[in-house]
Amino acid sequence: MAKFECVRCRRFFDRVALEDVCPTCYAFEEEEFRKIKEYLEKHPGATSSDLVSQLDVSIKSIKRYLKEERLEIIGDNKGFIRCELCGLPLNSGRFCVACFREGTALRMKEVRSGMKSTELYSGDTNTKYQRGIQYRKKGQN
Ligand SMILES: [Zn+2]
Ligand SMILES: [Zn+2]
Repeated sequence: MAKFECVRCRRFFDRVALEDVCPTCYAFEEEEFRKIKEYLEKHPGATSSDLVSQLDVSIKSIKRYLKEERLEIIGDNKGFIRCELCGLPLNSGRFCVACFREGTALRMKEVRSGMKSTELYSGDTNTKYQRGIQYRKKGQN
């Protein structure tokens, strides 16, 4: 299997699934994400610039957490992240609803090992709209 370049430290590593970072950076990001989550719990409606200035998190990392659906944007969305196929502004994830099926197919093509299938995106019908970026509680209804 081809080596994958870590998006964070640019070192090459053996990719297991679809992770974008090497095991070293992964551990670092787990800790970083824990801090973000804690911060957002204390400061609901915090903006990305708050995260950058208070936690020393890079905008690049925030964008990646959004694409990985670990965070989602609530409120004003000026196209901070966009659908990778059509460029529509998104609140989280890599593809808009219209492109989701196609995007998932593309994404699955990237997977060479047996990974469990991607859960269907249910949409965010009950999102409370406020300014800023808020932690998206995955796996809860
Ligand atoms: Zn790395
Ligand atoms: Zn799209």
